[in-house]
Amino acid sequence: MKQIAIKIIYDNCTANEHFQAGWGFSCVVEVGLRKILFDTGADVHAFFSNLQKFGMQCEEITDVVYSHKHADHIAGFEEVIGKIKQSGRLFLPKKFPSKKRPPTIHTEIVEEFQEIDSGIYSLVLKGGFFFYEQALVIETKNGLVVITGCAHPGIITLLQEVQKRLKQPIHLVLGGFHLFRSKQSYIDEVVHQFKALKVQTAAPCHCTGSMAIERFHQAFKENFYKIGAGTMLTLDK
Ligand SMILES: [Zn+2]
Ligand SMILES: [Zn+2]
Repeated sequence: MKQIAIKIIYDNCTANEHFQAGWGFSCVVEVGLRKILFDTGADVHAFFSNLQKFGMQCEEITDVVYSHKHADHIAGFEEVIGKIKQSGRLFLPKKFPSKKRPPTIHTEIVEEFQEIDSGIYSLVLKGGFFFYEQALVIETKNGLVVITGCAHPGIITLLQEVQKRLKQPIHLVLGGFHLFRSKQSYIDEVVHQFKALKVQTAAPCHCTGSMAIERFHQAFKENFYKIGAGTMLTLDK
């Protein structure tokens, strides 16, 4: 049976004492022949060290997806993309600041919504006054997996847009939900909306904040995943 593996490279928390924690996010999604790196965290040394703890190297990466321009997601931008496979592809959301890129890398600027490989999509929404944020959406046997960096467009807005575009159930939402400064009442409303949208499982981390992570845990029970740098989740494709 085909599987998807999601490895958390960088997060505010660790799942394992051998990994380094730091405010930021990065993960690698292995699906079919693709190894998709989504963001690189805030500290390039911790990023490389954690990647190595998974026995991985940048040279194996086939695609790099940067969610948005904030410093806690783009550590070592030039160094990382300088190391990935020759045939590698880079996906950036529109309005991403221009940075030096090796000429060999194939860059795609995603305007709104794009299938980047069979059953793998990029969705770009406005994240703030001056930037856009890109999320990754992957089809699996049990429904869609949505991976978000900071969810600046709003996690519920993002999920509604995913459902509008793909019309499939949402199996898992993983990443930063950006609720660390939100009041309890707002957090409860977001959790309620997750249930209303029939999201099956949740793996909040990074800027979700500890209070919201706990609320998701209470609401989703065994369908909640506590994740951090060093976590590997596997799902049936
Ligand atoms: Zn951000
Ligand atoms: Zn962030």
